[in-house]
Amino acid sequence: MVTDMANLHTLTLLGSTGSVGESTLAVVALHPERYRVFALTAHRQWEKLLAQCARFHPQVAVVGEAEAAAKLQAGLRAAGLATEVFYGAAALCQVAAAPEADTVLAAIVGAAGLPPALAAAEAGKRLLLANKEALVMAGALFMETVARHGATLLPVDSEHNAIFQSLPAAFAAQPQAGVARHGVKKLWLTASGGAFRCFSAAELETVTPEQAVSHPNWSMGRKISVDSASLMNKGLEVIEARWLFNAPPEMIGVVVHPQSVIHSLVEYVDGTQLAQLGTADMRAPIAHALFWPERQPSGVKSLSLFDVARLDFERPDTRRFPCLQLAFDALAAGGAAAAVLNAANEVAVAAFLEGRLSFPGIARVNAETLAALPQRPADTLEAVWAADAEARREAERLI
Ligand code: NAD
Ligand code: MG
Repeated sequence: MVTDMANLHTLTLLGSTGSVGESTLAVVALHPERYRVFALTAHRQWEKLLAQCARFHPQVAVVGEAEAAAKLQAGLRAAGLATEVFYGAAALCQVAAAPEADTVLAAIVGAAGLPPALAAAEAGKRLLLANKEALVMAGALFMETVARHGATLLPVDSEHNAIFQSLPAAFAAQPQAGVARHGVKKLWLTASGGAFRCFSAAELETVTPEQAVSHPNWSMGRKISVDSASLMNKGLEVIEARWLFNAPPEMIGVVVHPQSVIHSLVEYVDGTQLAQLGTADMRAPIAHALFWPERQPSGVKSLSLFDVARLDFERPDTRRFPCLQLAFDALAAGGAAAAVLNAANEVAVAAFLEGRLSFPGIARVNAETLAALPQRPADTLEAVWAADAEARREAERLI
């Protein structure tokens, strides 16, 4: 095989054992001449990580704790693999900033993903971001860090990736200037409506975690699947879009589109709307980000519009799904309100998955936590983490 060194990237994949992580490795496996893997990271699933190390031969693997690290280390030695093992949150930040990798794909779920994503931005990496919670928690700080250190931030979340693809190329040269200067009138995020789109308020009272995690169109991790069902995911994505595209909240709209064929749209001042369409498979936005501005095969099945036949659109129902409106409320409140909402939601979703909270309880806990902690500063990372911790305690108390 002839390798073009100028086109060879080296990747740190944060959260390699998750849904986005596995999809990323599936794309990387198609392009061994374009991507080497420097580091893979997982939280507890050391056996899955061991299998990934055997296949991709990273220099470094990181897990959450010492016990998993010891087991992974033993497995690697037994298999004759030279991957070095580290554990803990500081090691995640180190691999994210390590000079050996030029590209970091951030696919850890939740607030735990913020420190390593920020470390990658500080190191000026090409940062491919799936971990939307990082931007929700610390959007202003995050975008400042990206700009100050000359990092390249590419959205992996399918809606934001679709918007990025529907913007002029000039946007990417100066993202901090915002989309308004490119004649954009509105960013439209599409939402599948989640597992309970057609459920009545009464039916929502008794839905189970198993029902919530069975998403109609996308196969995803448990937390984001529950967020999709509550429309909190769309709310988090509104906040994510506000920062990625420097667009004020009134420029961001949400349209429910049950088929998930259109992954989002950009409306321009001249009446044009540009949409990105495709099969609902994360390998497409992942490949787009991995190879941008080039195009390379992702392994995704071609979309047949003949099979799709029709597309439907609805207004989101914020009465049955109040979490979407809470995201706009948090943006209006400013400061650390979005970090408070994100933390409350992580606690509430975990409680729902453990059977300690009803499904409508998620929106209640989120709303009450936001109301209890309305004004918290977000001008430093310490302030953001303080708001996060306070919100977790308040949410736990409310459950
Ligand atoms: P997942 O639960 O399938 O995987 C999460 C990954 O993070 C795993 O590798 C896990 O080991 C790791 N992890 C979890 N807790 C950790 C911790 N405390 N410290 C270090 N690592 C930890 O999640 P997912 O569905 O792949 O989603 C990952 C992120 O991407 C989320 O922020 C989600 O919102 C976003 N996202 C996912 C999809 C999707 O299709 N799954 C689509 C768009 C955006
Ligand atoms: Mg999304």
